[in-house]
Amino acid sequence: MTNLPGIVVTGASGRMGQMLIRTIQNSDRARLVGAVERKGHDWVGRDVGEAMGGAAQGVIVTDEPLEAFAHAQAVIDFTAPAATLEFAALAAQARAVHVIGTTGMTTEDLERLKLAAHHAVIVRAGNMSLGVNLLVQLTKRVAAALDADYDIEVIEAHHNQKVDAPSGTALMLGEAAAQGRGVRLEDVSDRGRDGITGARKRGDIGFSAIRGGDIIGEHDVMFAAAGERIILRHVASDRSVFARGALKAALWGLDQHPGEYDMVDVLGL
Ligand code: NAP
Repeated sequence: MTNLPGIVVTGASGRMGQMLIRTIQNSDRARLVGAVERKGHDWVGRDVGEAMGGAAQGVIVTDEPLEAFAHAQAVIDFTAPAATLEFAALAAQARAVHVIGTTGMTTEDLERLKLAAHHAVIVRAGNMSLGVNLLVQLTKRVAAALDADYDIEVIEAHHNQKVDAPSGTALMLGEAAAQGRGVRLEDVSDRGRDGITGARKRGDIGFSAIRGGDIIGEHDVMFAAAGERIILRHVASDRSVFARGALKAALWGLDQHPGEYDMVDVLGL
């Protein structure tokens, strides 16, 4: 057991953090060697299993990420952009694979991640599920097959605690549609409709976000033309799909050279 790759989970108390910890505990291919929370969090110093309301796991939650990363082969990180940037530098220092599920990162944040990827393997994806990554590929193909007579709209729904919009997945899908069409998403993206907006601009890719209840994540890519609509849809009904994808990415990353990768690389799609 002890020679299984050791994984650290950051944001251990979060929705995804807890799901990741359970997924690693149930895996026979990896072991949990660390759990990180921010300074002052009431889980720090407690056994992570007990903090989650279960049996002790022999892993004490720490607020010292570098110390935890130094004993690990991989870090799985679903937290917040500022924290993820800090963890990227530390994971590179510890030569640990850094799997990033955090969304809402700006273009400047992504530039900074590139620096860390000179020294370490980073696998980052706005959505770690097999189904969504397949949907990304399908979106690209459908967008390539249809012309701008088909208006492209990306519609997403998430729980009421989500802080960023559109979701990282919606942006991945928009990017795939733009690539399929051979345009740049930043030139055609329509993200804020309110009031007298005027008619829809031909060729735009529109985004809409629904927030409510405990919705885990739903994404539609609609191609709407006169007389017909094609809708590609993914519905996540359990967060474990993201956690399983992230663990797969961490194990895959162990055999890669330093650089930035995504789930399309991991899944070989
Ligand atoms: P969440 O429940 O709010 O969890 C985030 C966790 O990160 C919290 O425990 C938070 O602690 C912790 N955190 C924030 N800053 C930190 C720091 N500096 N050091 C250590 N821990 C820190 O959110 P979630 O629903 O799990 O989602 C987390 C992220 O993953 C979001 O960006 C979300 O969009 C993304 N996500 C991605 C995928 C994917 O497949 N890529 C799937 C689901 C979610 P506090 O509570 O103390 O702030």
